Amino acid sequence: MVDQKTLAVHSVVLEDPPLDFDALPPVSSQLVVFDFDWSLADQDTDRWIHELLSPRLRIEFVQKISTMQFTDMCAYLLEELHKEGHTPEAIQEALRAMPMHPAMIRGVRSLQSHHHGTDFLLLSNSNEVYIHTILPSKGLAEPPLFTEIVTNPAHWEPNGLLRLRRRISPDGPQHACKVGCSANMCKGDELDAFKQRHADRKYERIVYVGDGGNDFCPVKRLGPNDVAFVRRNRGLARRILQEGGVQCMVRYWTGAWEAEQLLNLLCPPRP
Ligand SMILES: [Mg+2]
Ligand SMILES: [Zn+2]
Repeated sequence: MVDQKTLAVHSVVLEDPPLDFDALPPVSSQLVVFDFDWSLADQDTDRWIHELLSPRLRIEFVQKISTMQFTDMCAYLLEELHKEGHTPEAIQEALRAMPMHPAMIRGVRSLQSHHHGTDFLLLSNSNEVYIHTILPSKGLAEPPLFTEIVTNPAHWEPNGLLRLRRRISPDGPQHACKVGCSANMCKGDELDAFKQRHADRKYERIVYVGDGGNDFCPVKRLGPNDVAFVRRNRGLARRILQEGGVQCMVRYWTGAWEAEQLLNLLCPPRP
């Protein structure tokens, strides 16, 4: 039996928390890293699909999450969804209906057009099919926003099954992360690898927009000139407050309208 009072205390949400939109130092080059679920998007892809198409599998999601590797569990649930007869078209339609706040879209497009030294990286534990279905439906595919999209591989099989795999195959060498990244991907390693691939860009600042516990690893690798835009009341905020050891600046947000104001701080000062 779940203690309802404890649950309520652990999920306190202030609708209008104090504002923290103080200016950030101007830079000529910066990388903005976005997590996808509950960060760029205002929902979680892996859960949303089942909430729309199969509540039975959404319940199984909760029952299995503590006993299976996350990507493997999502892959298994997609096999079950396929067995229930849900078509690629139905899954795509559900994905296109997933909420993304207009203020978030406005914020990233405004930053892109006002600061030409800004690159964007999408770093997500979702998957290629979900993200490449959702981005065009929200106007974020063209003109291109992201320099790279780093996520789990997925493809449609001829029979209509959405086949999902871990980014790091269980059959090969595993990552050595000790911060708690799931076996399928170390987001800190992926951020470091991206920075190496684009070393010529000489980013003066990394900005990380995230919400989940698996965003803690890359945020821990940021330096004092970097900044994390952290969604309140979720796993990343909890780990920063409980475990500490974060060197970068941290700004908190709850709704996408606040994240938009924070993104505006990354634009060059207006005369
Ligand atoms: Mg997330
Ligand atoms: Zn890691």
